[in-house]
Amino acid sequence: MRVATWNMQQGYNAPPLKRCWTWLTDTVAPDIAVLTEARVPAGGPPAGWDTVWRPEGIGPTRRWGTVITGRGVELTAVDHVTIGRFRRRTVEVTSRYPGAAVVADVNVDGEWWATVVGLYGLNVDLKGRKCGHGRHTTPALLRDLSPLFESDRRDRIIVAGDFNLHPRDMPPVVDRLGLFDLTEITAHTRSPLDQCTGCTARRPEECGHLWSHRNNPSPNASRQQIDFILATNDLACELSTLTGGIRDFPDSWNVSDHAPIVAEFRD
Ligand SMILES: [Zn+2]
Repeated sequence: MRVATWNMQQGYNAPPLKRCWTWLTDTVAPDIAVLTEARVPAGGPPAGWDTVWRPEGIGPTRRWGTVITGRGVELTAVDHVTIGRFRRRTVEVTSRYPGAAVVADVNVDGEWWATVVGLYGLNVDLKGRKCGHGRHTTPALLRDLSPLFESDRRDRIIVAGDFNLHPRDMPPVVDRLGLFDLTEITAHTRSPLDQCTGCTARRPEECGHLWSHRNNPSPNASRQQIDFILATNDLACELSTLTGGIRDFPDSWNVSDHAPIVAEFRD
């Protein structure tokens, strides 16, 4: 199962939407994709893509949002979960920014494979003031989703998206929810980035990050990893490869200022 996350950059300086979906299909070729700052074509998702999204986007000033899409799988939006071992009860799965966090069950041939959370860490603080990073909203959106991690789905959850933060700023709630950062656990499989920003490695040669974003189209623009795929233990154990960034997708900058991150899981 090939799971990708990619920021389609339909929020600002938007490239043609059709070109983005074609590039996703032909170049990234995922089974499941989380698309952030994304839009779905006016006539609906391209043929063959089962898609869960909030058509109105994140809000009146943000008509784009997080989209979960897949081919060869069935996706169902998750808005309620059952929690409690003895006193079972159903609780709502809500988000303070609907459209920024989207949750979907992934079924293959009628059987549940995992639950995927698509997440976009808005560049605002919790009062909505612009702050230029997602260090407030990403942990808040994850905390909103905590019922999901107490539910029957807790063993097989993937959280992917553009968190708008550097690896070193990954919030502690990720640990508390039992999530592993798939970039970190596969760091030894990649050569280090030259001048990685916000790196978690103790020594530069231990960096295994991927450049998933550039600040602007200038050749000298700074690059960093701000897009991530996290997974619970059972899924992390099924991970076969983690690829992505500009080195694995060298034509990414033709379609977005973001390059995808791709996790391959064994069947
Ligand atoms: Zn690094």
